[in-house]
Amino acid sequence: MKYEVDELGFYGEFGGAFIPELLHPNIEELSTRYLSIIYDEAFQKEFHYLLKQYVGRPTPLYFAKRLSEKYQTQIYLKREDLCHTGAHKVNNTIGQILVAKKLGKKRIIAETGAGQHGVATATVCALMGIECIVYMGAKDVERQAPNVARMKMLGAEVRPEYSSSQSLKDATNAAMRDWINNPEDTHYIIGSVVGPHPFPDMVARFQSVISEEIIAQLEGEKPNYVIACIGGGSNAIGAFYHYMQDVEVQLIGVEAAGKGVDTKETAATLALGSPGVLHASRTVMIQDKDGQVIEPHSISAGLDYPGIGPIHAHLKETQRATYLHATDEEALQAGFELSKLEGIIPALETAHALAILPKQPFQPDDIIVFNLSGRGDKDLESYMKHL
Ligand SMILES: *Cc1c(COP(=O)(O)O)cnc(C)c1O
Repeated sequence: MKYEVDELGFYGEFGGAFIPELLHPNIEELSTRYLSIIYDEAFQKEFHYLLKQYVGRPTPLYFAKRLSEKYQTQIYLKREDLCHTGAHKVNNTIGQILVAKKLGKKRIIAETGAGQHGVATATVCALMGIECIVYMGAKDVERQAPNVARMKMLGAEVRPEYSSSQSLKDATNAAMRDWINNPEDTHYIIGSVVGPHPFPDMVARFQSVISEEIIAQLEGEKPNYVIACIGGGSNAIGAFYHYMQDVEVQLIGVEAAGKGVDTKETAATLALGSPGVLHASRTVMIQDKDGQVIEPHSISAGLDYPGIGPIHAHLKETQRATYLHATDEEALQAGFELSKLEGIIPALETAHALAILPKQPFQPDDIIVFNLSGRGDKDLESYMKHL
């Protein structure tokens, strides 16, 4: 069974590049060149140097003793929360800024919802001394003031989008328009395994360092389960990547159910969605009967996305991975629990993955790896409201 992208940019029936004619030159340049750029020896050397000395990799694989005792199983935490900027997102932005440099680009654009990807992008632009423009829905600019301040401090320009719902999808459209208008000098850094081919594959390859490290750190032992939360799906694919062909390892993605999958306030895309084209890629999305995107809801801004990376749609279709979901309330409880039992405050996104522990029957000798995608400092206000 093949789970990787094919020559046309598809994962089974999902993926592809459904782009306006005017974007063809940009996408064509990137898809013909990305693999030879990434696997060039000098590129790999610089990428791994920065991951080590700037991001702080390898991140630890920590055996969570007290959490394991509570659930009578063996739980490891892959500590992406210890990456510079506090989450896995920087693995991808480091990779893409190096690609942009190789392509001779002088200007970076990005879209962001919660602001985490905007911060990770502004960070690498500062590192390289490259101009950075981050599109953000006007509502999100207001809601995510600390991250807006971070981006500005890092030298990025934040451009609020006032059209339509003033949220992530409008920021994405604005970034696409900018890219169409500036094809020569600009690279668009997409923040997850979403968007037109080759972005999902390129982002997956950069994040795959996570599973590469897990394999080395487990020293020959094989996990029974690898579990991660899913927004667009990049931290999950990073953790799954080198296990994808080994069907003895069960892969579990956890979506945000928001207030519940039986309510309208949810972000559980694979549980409730249907095939459609979103963000220039054929995938599964939450839509009404006219094909209009339904605004998602999740307590965690990073999971508040109406679609999902096409590779996850394919992994679900082929039953290679299993997709569960957890509500806002369950995630909050899991976040409190990890904090008290292990002294680690997880991001609310990450807490969704941990929230399946009370609901899933694991065996005492099961080895379970949770990808701890980010740290919870940014979520303290939400946690405190519910303490
Ligand atoms: C952005 C984010 C996510 C969701 O994005 P994926 O692409 O699904 O990984 C998950 N966890 C944290 C901490 C994030 O910042």
